[in-house]
Amino acid sequence: MRTPLLALIAGALASVLFTGVAHAAPPAYSPVLTKNAIYKTGKLELKECAEQPVNGGDLDGARVYLVFLLDCLNDSWSQQLAKKNIPFSKPGLEVIAKPGARTACGRFPEGAQALYCPKNKKITFLLDQGILAEPFELFLMEVLAHEYGHHVQQLTGMLKIVDRVKGKSKARLYDESRRVELQAECMSGAFIGSVWHSLGRRDFDFRYIVTTAQNGYDYASHGKASNIAWWLKRGFDAESPNVCNTWAASKSKVS
Ligand SMILES: [Zn+2]
Repeated sequence: MRTPLLALIAGALASVLFTGVAHAAPPAYSPVLTKNAIYKTGKLELKECAEQPVNGGDLDGARVYLVFLLDCLNDSWSQQLAKKNIPFSKPGLEVIAKPGARTACGRFPEGAQALYCPKNKKITFLLDQGILAEPFELFLMEVLAHEYGHHVQQLTGMLKIVDRVKGKSKARLYDESRRVELQAECMSGAFIGSVWHSLGRRDFDFRYIVTTAQNGYDYASHGKASNIAWWLKRGFDAESPNVCNTWAASKSKVS
């Protein structure tokens, strides 16, 4: 896989989060973030999501893979939210072939693989020639399940709360961005872990994407590579969003 994992998810929430004005002493995190009902929903119930192999250079095949996978994500998370009577709606999905496309959250940023826009609840996924040359389905799954994690954050009221608090310092904005991103990473791992045995893959494949995350870049907005790998594996092992409360995590785990 030529694209570093971090580049895959970079930039996704920048336009949503970095809208505050510098100010001292921001308020504590909202209970919507620290005590959200999603942390009490247990294991994801969906255990089957057979992958459709993607051939090199096959844009339509890769698109079909994502659409199929999105159905699995919809099934899995709609069941999960129903456990706590949280209203569910499906996100949109648009596949683009190059960066710069217009989204409801501004232009699709260079260097990102996908983004989620809360304004219209839509995932935009870049399938450019670089990724299509050597498609690795599990990476596509990891990225789509991460963006879906942002959709879950939107449905559970978390993204709205993060964005609403004004007067935040730059340090606070980065802190919140990392907690949002690492939580999405954990939710991605939870989904992959829950359907893992239906994928017919060897454990090496998952270790490979964790190692790739571990060896990636550190980003102030997304967290250290070691923490991204840690949250991804934590979700995978638990198969549950119960362990994805980045808002109650120690600073060292969200640095
Ligand atoms: Zn993200």
